[in-house]
Amino acid sequence: MTTTTAPLNTLRGAVRGTVVTPGDPSYDESRRVYNALHDRRPAVVVHAVDAGDVIAAVLYAREHALPLAVRGGAHAVAGHGTVDDGLVVDLSRMRGVRVDPAARTARAEGGATWGDFNHATHAFGLATTGGVVSTTGVGGLTLGGGMGHLARRYGLSCDNLIGADVVTAEGTLVTCDAERNPDLYWALRGGGGNFGVATSLLFRLHPVDDVFAGLTCYPLDGDVVRAWQAMNADAPVELNTILVIALGPEEPFLPERWHGRPICAAFTCFTGPGSEDEKVLARLDTLGPVVGRFMDRMPYPVINTLFDEQLPPGLYHYWKGNFSRELTEGAVAAHVAYGETMPAMESDTAIFPIDGACHEVGPEETAFAYRDAVFSHSFGASWSRAADSEANIAWTRAYDEALRPHTQAGGYVNFMDTDDQDRVRVNYRQNYDRLREVKRRYDPDNVFRLNQNIVP
Ligand code: FAD
Repeated sequence: MTTTTAPLNTLRGAVRGTVVTPGDPSYDESRRVYNALHDRRPAVVVHAVDAGDVIAAVLYAREHALPLAVRGGAHAVAGHGTVDDGLVVDLSRMRGVRVDPAARTARAEGGATWGDFNHATHAFGLATTGGVVSTTGVGGLTLGGGMGHLARRYGLSCDNLIGADVVTAEGTLVTCDAERNPDLYWALRGGGGNFGVATSLLFRLHPVDDVFAGLTCYPLDGDVVRAWQAMNADAPVELNTILVIALGPEEPFLPERWHGRPICAAFTCFTGPGSEDEKVLARLDTLGPVVGRFMDRMPYPVINTLFDEQLPPGLYHYWKGNFSRELTEGAVAAHVAYGETMPAMESDTAIFPIDGACHEVGPEETAFAYRDAVFSHSFGASWSRAADSEANIAWTRAYDEALRPHTQAGGYVNFMDTDDQDRVRVNYRQNYDRLREVKRRYDPDNVFRLNQNIVP
C-alpha cells in the first residue's frame, strides 16, 4: 500500500501533531517500538497531540484502506504498536495526567506511561495498580487487565478504571463509564485495544505513599517456589510479592558467586505500616536461604523503576502467559527446569499474584475473565543480539509446552505474542461472545485488529 502526496497533505493539514513518512529524518525513530523483533516500516506515523488528531488519523487510515496500529507505551511484546505499510497512531505526545485529590481520581491521556502516572499521583500520596516497569503504557496495560504491586490490595488496573474517552472506528469520540455506553466500558476492562483508541482514561486512586519494597533472593529451588505459594495464600493483601526466576543480576546486594546463576526472588511491595516491616522480612526469611537482599522504605514510584535499566527499549523479546489457580508439582518442576536453562541475563519469569482484591470482582463484571486464577505466569526470553532470536523463541515455546498442562487454558492477553491469536477465545472464556457483540457494535469492520483480536 502506498500513499501519495496530495492526501498526505490533507492529513498534515488536519493534524496538529506530526505526520512522519518514509524518508523523513525522524522516520526511523518514529517507526520503532520497544521490542526490536518487530522491525516494521509503516507508510505513515501520526504523532497525535489530541483527540482531534486521533480522529483524523483513524479516518485517514479507513479512507485509504491502510492497516491501523495504535501505540501507547509501545511495550506490546507482540509488536502491535507498529505495522508494515500501514498507519500508526502514536500517542506518546499525549501523556498528561490530571489528579483530582479531593475525588481521589486521576485522568491520564492515552499515551501516558506508568512513570508519568505514578509521578503525578504520588505528589498527593495516592496511587493505583499499574505496571512494574515505569516505561510501560497506561493504555495498553489497563485495557488488557493490568497487574502490579498493588493488585492484591486494590485489584487490577482495569478494576480501577472508572471511565474513558474513546475514538471509535467511525472516527467519533464517545465517553464511557458505568452510565454512558456501559457495554463499551465493560469491554475496555480487559478486552484490549479492540474497540477504539482511548484518548483518556479515568482512574480511582488509593492512599499509597512510601512502601517497604525490593528484592529478596534465594537459590532457584522448587522448595522456595512451594514456600512462596504458601506464603502468598496466608499473607495480608498489603503484602504483594511477585516471584521472579532469573539469572542473578550483577548488583552489589547479590554476592558475586550468584551473578549469572539461576535464582528465585521475591519482588516485594508492602503497603502496610512501617512498624510491620520487620514482620515482612521474617516472612520472606521463611521462603529459603536468603542469598541477597535489597529492601528498603521508598516512595511508591521508585519501586516501579527498579527494573527500568535492565529492560531498556531495543532488546528482543518473545513471551508467553498462562493463568493458574495453584502451582502444582508439575508447574513447579517446569519453572525450575526452564529457570535452570534461562538463556540470557535479560530474560525472566514473573509469577504475579492476582488474588485478594482481584477476586472481589466477578468473572463477568468486566471483560477480564479469569477471576478464579491466583497466579499469572509471565515467562519468556529477552535478549540483545538478533542472531540469538531463533534459539530464544524455541526455548520459550518449549517452556510453554512444558508448563501448559499444569496451568489453566487461558492466559493474560498482555503477556501473549503474535502467534497466540488462537488462544483469544479461551483467554476470554465465558466473556468472549459478549465481547464479540460489543466489537460488532463499535468496530464491525475490524479496523482495530492489531491486538489479541476479537473478530467481529
Ligand atoms: P503498546 O504496544 O503501545 O500497546 C499495546 C496494545 O494496546 C496495542 O494493541 C495497542 O493498540 C493498544 N493500546 C495502547 N494504548 C492504547 C490506547 N490508549 N487506546 C487503545 N488501545 C491502546 N503487564 C502488566 O499487567 N503488568 C506489568 O507489570 C507489566 N510489565 C511489563 C514490563 C515490560 C518491560 C513489558 C514489555 C511489558 C509489561 N507488561 C506488563 C505487559 C504490558 O501490559 C503490555 O505489553 C501492554 O500491551 C503494554 O501497553 P503499551 O501501551 O505500553 O503498549
